[in-house]
Amino acid sequence: MEGRQEPQVKIVLAIQAHPDDVDFSSGGTVAKFVRDGHEVHYLSATSGDKGTHDRAMPPERLTEIREAEQREAARRLGATSCRFLRHNDGELEPNLSLRGEICRVIREIRPYTVMTFDPWRPYQIHPDHRAIGISALDAIIAARDHLFYPEQLTDGLDIARVHEVYLFGAAEPDTWVDISDTIETKRYAAAAHASQLRGDQQEREERQRARARAIGEPRGLAYAEAFKLLRLS
Ligand SMILES: [Zn+2]
Repeated sequence: MEGRQEPQVKIVLAIQAHPDDVDFSSGGTVAKFVRDGHEVHYLSATSGDKGTHDRAMPPERLTEIREAEQREAARRLGATSCRFLRHNDGELEPNLSLRGEICRVIREIRPYTVMTFDPWRPYQIHPDHRAIGISALDAIIAARDHLFYPEQLTDGLDIARVHEVYLFGAAEPDTWVDISDTIETKRYAAAAHASQLRGDQQEREERQRARARAIGEPRGLAYAEAFKLLRLS
């Protein structure tokens, strides 16, 4: 690989709108990062407190359930930590406040790699998926310069530079990760999000495998996940 020498242990920060976004889209890649000796952290902007069809389920209870599910899924993938900003599900906006909250976490965790939604995917109708992608990218820029959110730097934090971004749900993927060795770990982690799973388990899992097969096939891979990779100087 040309250019920058990659560190032996990369710190990876997976930034998502809801518990399950990363695990369903990119769990095989997260498991692979961990298997390769890297360290993965999760940041969820909401706790998915509107993600139910059960009219008897209060949002506060759903918050507890979904945070526990995310912690368990992350444990199954071997991730190091999970954080939750606890914004209301469905109400994320790409504003300076959310950008600052994510910037602070980047300055704390100091990731080499960030994973998040591709905010430019056309016809992406979920407002949170659009908002988190753009906010995460904006926060990456803010985190690296001392005049952005300078009040954070008085808390013992310093500026932080992210070197690569894996955009999932990408409109124009250019990077395929072979998840043939981790697809079963992904399946196991996805199953932790029990409140979000409907229908027959076997059918669902076969659909997940078929999707990973379809993504991998043109690249000669048995199972894959696809990303748009941004390399930042
Ligand atoms: Zn989501």
